[in-house]
Formats: sequence, C-alpha cells, structure tokens
Amino acid sequence: MLTARQQHCLRGIGIRVWRERGSVPGDRLATGSAVAIAESGETGDRPRFSEHPSPAASVPEEKQDLSPVSVIEDPVADAAAVQGKTPLVLDSWEQIIDAIHACSACELSQNCTQKVPGVGNRDARLMIVGEGPGHDEDIRGEPFVGRSGQLLDRMLAAIGIARDQVYITNIVKCRPPNNRDPKPQEAQACRGYLDAQIRQVAPRVILSVGRVSAHNLLGSNQPVGKLIQQMHQLPGTDIPVKVTYHPAYLLRNPSAKAIAWQDLKLLHQLLQ
Ligand code: URA
Repeated sequence: MLTARQQHCLRGIGIRVWRERGSVPGDRLATGSAVAIAESGETGDRPRFSEHPSPAASVPEEKQDLSPVSVIEDPVADAAAVQGKTPLVLDSWEQIIDAIHACSACELSQNCTQKVPGVGNRDARLMIVGEGPGHDEDIRGEPFVGRSGQLLDRMLAAIGIARDQVYITNIVKCRPPNNRDPKPQEAQACRGYLDAQIRQVAPRVILSVGRVSAHNLLGSNQPVGKLIQQMHQLPGTDIPVKVTYHPAYLLRNPSAKAIAWQDLKLLHQLLQ
C-alpha cells in the first residue's frame, strides 16, 4: 500500500494510483497497486496500467542485477583526460570543484554563465546523473532547478527521497548553447570530473536520466526505451546503473510516466 504522502506525490507527478480489488497488502510501494496516467481525465476503476503493461513494466524485477559496489580506480588518468596533458589530482572535493571552475578544456566553458559542478549529499546512496545544465541551471549554478528539476524532485518524493539526500550532477558541467546535446568530445573532456565525483560519493546506485546520460555512462547507443528494461553496471565498476526517462521527456510525453514509476519502484528497492 502506498502511504497518503506517496499517493500525494504521485498525483504531483501526474500519476494516478489505483488499488486492485482484493489485492493483498505487501510491499508498501509496489504490491497491490497499479498506476495510470492522470492526464487522460478518465475516472474508471480499471487498473489501465496493469491491463496494458509496458515493455519496461513487464521486466521481472527479480531478474535484474542488484549487486553492488566498487569504485573507479585511476584519478590521475581521469584528470589527465580532462586537461589534455598535465594530470590534475582530483582526489578531494575541493580539488574537483576548483578544477571544474577553472576548466577550459572545451568550447562549452567559453559560452556558459557559470560552471554547474553538482549539488547534494556527498555521501549519498543515490547519485543522479543528467545531461547538462539548461538555461535555469546556468543562471543558478545548480543542476535540475528548472521545470525538469521540479519534476525530478517530485519523482524522488514519490519514493520518499528528498532532493538533499541525493547527489545530483550532469555529464557536462557547462550549458551547451541552445540546449543542444553535448558533443562526444565535450562529454569526454568533462568525464574525469564525473568519474572523480562518482569515486568520492561511491553511491549504492546511480540513476541515469535520459539518453545523453545513459549513452555516456554506459558507452551504449541503444535507445533509452531499451536500456530501461534491464539493470546495468557502470563500466569498470560494479556500481548498478538504473536508466530512466529524462524528466523533460516525461513533461513532453506524460504517458511515459507509468514506465518511470516502475523505474522509481525498482530504485527504491535497490536502496533498501
Ligand atoms: N537537464 C539536465 O539534464 N540537467 C540539468 O541540470 C537540467 C536539465
């Protein structure tokens, strides 16, 4: 059964919670409930979601790889990749944040208002990796503070997690002009910072939001709709990576929220 607060949070992200008749209460998030999309305005009592399971929703969760955790090994090599030639040492938060603010390794640094290194709990069990700062983030210097960020906050709240409990960052730390995708060489130039952040946080699990994040983290070019169907590991580590849709995509495609809710439930399970 969902708590009243979780039901409130789900309504906040546009998901209606249905309780199946005769269901046995169990897992307080998952068991005995089904979700439907609130935008339709339908009020029938059928659990539409469970009648039409999405491909992702039908992946048996027990088959997914839940194993934890080791960290990336080579800070000096990562830092060398960031700066080209002279290896930087990125083995403290101070070094990482200073290096990001001083970085001019790619063109993005020339045009952004400010660097957006990351925010949140540096000992978090959950690390969230997005794509790159947008307009609002570029102004505020903090990731996920615009409309996407507000939806992300509500998604986390739906599984009982506050924004300040997690660490949030992006593949690139500078805003790409006109919100275009970061180019591969820009993502590569920034990669050492991300790897250093992951080493410091040593999260129990990473939530990778959206295509750019998933492709860069996993070194894959499969569609997100495919990647969300199974658990992954951050290459070179045994940190589990859960891929989900980007909140900006969910804002444009509310029907995908039901799939994202399955991802959130699995994430909640992984964090127990
Ligand atoms: N989208 C992202 O991927 N990251 C942000 O910080 C904001 C929007």
